[in-house]
Amino acid sequence: MSEPVTFLGRAGPAVGTPSAIANRAGARRFTQLRTDAAARYAPFDAMRDRARAIRLHTLANLGGYLRQFADSVEAAGGRVYFAADAAEARSIILGIARDVDARKIIKSKSMVSEEIHLNDALEADGREVVETDLGEFIIQLAGEAPSHIIAPAIHMTAANIGRLFERRLGIDYTDDADELNRFARAHLRRVFLEADMGISGVNFGVAESGSICTVTNEGNGRLTTTAPRVHVALMGMERLVPTTADLVQMIEVLARSGTGQNLSAYTNIVTGPRRDGDPDGPDELHVVILDNGRSRALAGPNAEILACIRCGACLNACPVYRAVGGHAYGAVYPGPIGAVLNPALDGVDPWSDLPFASTLCGACTEVCPVRIDIPRMLLGLRQEAMESGVGFGWIRPGMSAYARAAEHPVLWRAFLALGGIVARTIGRRGHLERLPFHASRWTQHRSLRAPAPESFRASWRRRRG
Ligand code: SF4
Repeated sequence: MSEPVTFLGRAGPAVGTPSAIANRAGARRFTQLRTDAAARYAPFDAMRDRARAIRLHTLANLGGYLRQFADSVEAAGGRVYFAADAAEARSIILGIARDVDARKIIKSKSMVSEEIHLNDALEADGREVVETDLGEFIIQLAGEAPSHIIAPAIHMTAANIGRLFERRLGIDYTDDADELNRFARAHLRRVFLEADMGISGVNFGVAESGSICTVTNEGNGRLTTTAPRVHVALMGMERLVPTTADLVQMIEVLARSGTGQNLSAYTNIVTGPRRDGDPDGPDELHVVILDNGRSRALAGPNAEILACIRCGACLNACPVYRAVGGHAYGAVYPGPIGAVLNPALDGVDPWSDLPFASTLCGACTEVCPVRIDIPRMLLGLRQEAMESGVGFGWIRPGMSAYARAAEHPVLWRAFLALGGIVARTIGRRGHLERLPFHASRWTQHRSLRAPAPESFRASWRRRRG
């Protein structure tokens, strides 16, 4: 059977599965941790305002900060590349791997590397690539894509992982999370020592110093960027902050929003390759800065989405994401951020159904550390999808029929009277169990109250005599 290609086609079968249940539990836990962190720290909201101001200021002056960042990286001994799209970024990194003869490559978590399908390109060139973030390591073994931007294996239970390790790594089955963790750590420790090249993402690049900041809770980011002889940092072009003082603000707000921590366990700041006298660090540092649709997004109505710091809080809070899990979105970036970011990067056409995967409840904006107004953007994208004729085909004729009826009182009364008769005919004990046509989706999982026997208009007339 071929893979369903729409959000609804993927989401329907996902609801209620063990993966979706694990996903929901994980997302709820993260949301609670974030809520507790916000309650513990009174200036949190003021901190969010400052973080938003820093991000918007950076985006408004991105060209200048990119030049400053590139100059600073090169002054510190690194090399900078600008990649216009995914193909160019893959080719640059492949070129570096060939130049330094990197046979074994380790990676720390990077959503941008998922965006450009980097592992496939390196593996097709005969290179071994090992993910070192525990969640990424698990889904790499499972042959899956991340289902969450900070917790890639959030949809898997310890039992799933135990069976996966048994099958792929030959250990005895266990569902003891600590034991699985210990095994993965010992396995990866060997890999760190053997690797020729480390590829990391970038949480923030600092324009004034050329520093690259990665935050992790496992220490794998630090090992990936310091143990191998070559470090390649892959960064979306928007991930800059002007100064180190700004960086401090951002990492505080990121940790609290993502995992409810005051700070992530490891905040790793790298400035240039190893210098004389340094005890460790790579001989070479290459920084690849990716556009891949970001310039277009910056010039569009949803430029503010580039202020996102990938904390994942909007996914955790979203009732739709919680119910269906990340894979239902069929995109690298799932959840509310993905419903805006994927169309912003690639255009609306391939992702025309994602902006509709939302209840517009606003929970995403409430938790967003940089207060991005995602519901407003989703409405704009829905309108764009409808105008370009790629949205749901029935909405336009449905809405114009509604508008025509609403503009003509006689028609409207006839429409209501007819609806009342139909509802009373097919209603059972005051509820409609099955609606026809597109409305049938509503009654697939719940019933609808049947209209009252007397309409509001009739009741109004009667009461006023
Ligand atoms: S949109 Fe906001 S809440 Fe969602 S991942 Fe980005 S920064 Fe976090």
